[in-house]
Amino acid sequence: RHLLEVKDLTAVIAESQQKILNGVNLTVYEGEVHAIMGKNGSGKSTFAKVLVGHPDYEVTGGTVTFKGQSLLEMEPEERSLAGMFLSFQSPIEIPGVSNADFLNMAYNARQRKLGLPELGPIEFFSHVYSKLDLVNMKMDFLNRNVNEGFSGGERKRNEILQLAVLGADLAILDEIDSGLDVDALQDVAKAVNALLTPKNSVLMITHYQRLLEYIRPTYIHVMENGRIVKTGDISLALVLEKEGYKAISTA
Ligand code: ADP
Ligand code: MG
Ligand code: MG
Repeated sequence: RHLLEVKDLTAVIAESQQKILNGVNLTVYEGEVHAIMGKNGSGKSTFAKVLVGHPDYEVTGGTVTFKGQSLLEMEPEERSLAGMFLSFQSPIEIPGVSNADFLNMAYNARQRKLGLPELGPIEFFSHVYSKLDLVNMKMDFLNRNVNEGFSGGERKRNEILQLAVLGADLAILDEIDSGLDVDALQDVAKAVNALLTPKNSVLMITHYQRLLEYIRPTYIHVMENGRIVKTGDISLALVLEKEGYKAISTA
């Protein structure tokens, strides 16, 4: 069963009406890992943001189906409640709010809207505690303010912790490898791999082939000028690594 089906998706920047996505086609089935690669500026992050309904962009054509529903008619929050998760390339700081409280609030807000039971601080603590190991974080991490003074690696681990705590059917990970040293990259990859089930899927966006050594994609897509111009398996990443994007460029 497909989880996500994108057909001929076009989108512009809301303010300038500049065209960024020029007809994206992509189908993701349950249990698959898809990697989107491509040069800087090719539209990868825009595609991710359009999927979650970011207000900076306007969809001008095409269709997107997520779990059988028409995604483009859903509010950003409804998309998240339906099981879509986006990690941001530059996560925000929330001064004065501890990580534990933030995660608990986010978790409960989600449970409430889904008509599921909320967790009090103590129950929540044991829920989140069980996930800390996954991202190789110590407990004091939970008492720190959200992203305040976090290193690049800690921010990324925190994003994955959020994903682990909240859960998602489709996790869109935008450059979770950027700025990570090998240890942090391995931890993040291990955590993502641990979250994979035959039911959920990952769409990971990356510039670099390195991430793909740790999280094995089912398919690799190359984006160029706001479209997916090539799809292949892991061998495509090897071609890109050796010869660069010019090897497959259509321009
Ligand atoms: P990638 O993630 O592949 O590096 P992006 O999707 O971030 O590419 O950007 C694609 C192009 O659209 C770039 O030229 C970028 O500068 C431009 N762009 C994207 N979003 C905006 C925005 N909100 N305002 C102005 N330009 C934007
Ligand atoms: Mg970029
Ligand atoms: Mg980007």
